[in-house]
Amino acid sequence: MNATLVLGTTNQGKVRELLELLEPFGMVCASLTGLVGAVDVAETGSTFAENAALKAQAQARALGSWVLAEDSGLVVPALGGAPGVYSARFSGPAPGADREAVDTRNNALLLERLAGMVGRDRAAHYACHAALADPSGRIVAVSEGVCGGVIATSPLGVGGFGYDPLFVVPEYHRTFGELAPVIKAVISHRGRAMRAIIPMIVRCLGAASG
Ligand code: IMP
Repeated sequence: MNATLVLGTTNQGKVRELLELLEPFGMVCASLTGLVGAVDVAETGSTFAENAALKAQAQARALGSWVLAEDSGLVVPALGGAPGVYSARFSGPAPGADREAVDTRNNALLLERLAGMVGRDRAAHYACHAALADPSGRIVAVSEGVCGGVIATSPLGVGGFGYDPLFVVPEYHRTFGELAPVIKAVISHRGRAMRAIIPMIVRCLGAASG
């Protein structure tokens, strides 16, 4: 299998995790960063699944390549499902360059919204929906993964990205910020969504490259 798979994201945290999950299968991947012809895609969908498909379709058409896109985020039932599809821009627009500052702002807002809440009210889950588009922009495979957790009262650990320092994985009594990347890869929403779609990517790209 040697057709290049474009990963439809510029989020370096996601790129790092996606490469770790996909490269062991012999996939040749390229991220969108610096890719000539890549387009900005407005995430106008109301669900993770819609946004994943929008991103995969638009980049595949623009680049004429196989594209794997994912849309993911944090869902807190006690906040009516927020931040949900707005996870990246929970505290306001995410000015591309300084993602770390935006993550810090988002985490502070999450803690503020959950102030005074205890027990079940702090339950949350991460969700990830993935979509694979062929070079004409047709969606040929989709998958999803979920990972349950609890929102801590203060950030712990420096691993991962986004909300990870606040996301406690009950089985480990640790946040994703504290856990090793290999553990996150096994139990995370993204790991689960990728393992569900990898056989289809292997079949499609294997067939595409003969
Ligand atoms: P997207 O680019 O619209 O899919 O935004 C995803 C956003 O959800 C990220 O910017 C993070 O805020 C959050 N998110 C998704 N997956 C993770 C994760 O694995 N760890 C931490 N935050 C995540």
